[in-house]
Amino acid sequence: GNSTFSALGTTIFEVMSRLADQHKAINLGQGFPDGNGPPDIVDAAARYLTDGWNQYPPMPGLPALRQAVAAHNARFYGLEVDWATETLVTSGATEALAACLFGLLEPGDEVVLFQPLYDSYAPIIRRAGAIPRFVSLKTPDWTFTEADLETAFSDRTKLVLINNPQNPAGKVWTLDELTILSRFVIRHDITALCDEVYEHLVFDGRRHIPLMTLPGMRDRTLRIGSAGKTFSLTGWKVGYITGSARLLSPIIKAHQFLTFTTPPNLQQAVALGLGKDDAYFRDLSRDMERRRDLLSAGLRAAGLVVLHCAGTYFLTVDLAASEIATDDRRFCLQLTEQVGVAAIPISAFFETDAPTHLVRFCFCKRDEVLMEAVHRLSRGM
Ligand code: PMP
Ligand code: GLN
Repeated sequence: GNSTFSALGTTIFEVMSRLADQHKAINLGQGFPDGNGPPDIVDAAARYLTDGWNQYPPMPGLPALRQAVAAHNARFYGLEVDWATETLVTSGATEALAACLFGLLEPGDEVVLFQPLYDSYAPIIRRAGAIPRFVSLKTPDWTFTEADLETAFSDRTKLVLINNPQNPAGKVWTLDELTILSRFVIRHDITALCDEVYEHLVFDGRRHIPLMTLPGMRDRTLRIGSAGKTFSLTGWKVGYITGSARLLSPIIKAHQFLTFTTPPNLQQAVALGLGKDDAYFRDLSRDMERRRDLLSAGLRAAGLVVLHCAGTYFLTVDLAASEIATDDRRFCLQLTEQVGVAAIPISAFFETDAPTHLVRFCFCKRDEVLMEAVHRLSRGM
């Protein structure tokens, strides 16, 4: 039935990337940058490898990286974090999410989630025996109301999981929205799990606000980051969790039986990365903002209606508003096969009541790749 992994399909990212390869399409589907990441960080990883950092590191992560995670929290968000008890290194944010969900959930617990949602959340929640409760955000700005939260929360709610900035919506949660959510978390005396892998990909001069920084939330919140996004090295799978020792303790237990450790050379290199100067982080978001504008202008010129994107590296096209009657999956299939551009149908990010008129385009690609995609779109639409 629904609760077993064998009943699951292959993730939409894998499906669309294979299809893109097959048709030699430009892959604006799966979210991965086509550059090679910061050369100094990549060189450092290679050097640590040949210098012999090749055996199991400590289970919760190397001190250098855990200290860097704590320092990063202080530097960007004013959070005081004890690296030795309040940080954990994982094999990507994907493992961080699984460790948190398996570590914290008991069968029958409920988890409140916001759709559109990243595709790994619901399967892991169900496999932990817990019950997902979905709040669907409303386009064009992906908003929710307090009444939506009243409906979703119950006395069985154990966790709320948010993704901020949010994939695929390009939504950056406002202070007002975070404040409303924090009141529910405190009133229900539960834990908030925050997938903040896109924390440094926020545009137009806005700043990312971790839910953890709101009043009363410091020890109720778990915050997940990823070197894949922050250093444009998605294949590395180095993630990190920040949270109180009490919350982290069962998560560390889950982590030891999921992956146990993460490659030590990569941990050392990511520790260096988190210590990079402010200019690195500023340029990362500015550079991605420029690419957003480039793709957005091209999509519009091809006659497509593009929703506002405040963060992440994804743009949403509204097919209905663009007066295209095709549903999102068929549109993505035809676009890949006939126009030579792959994108992701946003219905894949919904577990219930999926809209079928929205499509996600990834813009973390080199300018010439984005321009060629735009060229194909303007000819083919
Ligand atoms: N959460 C979200 C919202 C993502 O977009 C991604 C990117 N794949 C992940 C988690 C997983 O990150 P990682 O590659 O570090 O496992
Ligand atoms: N996070 C990336 C995306 O949303 C890729 C995830 C994946 O391939 N599992 O496209």
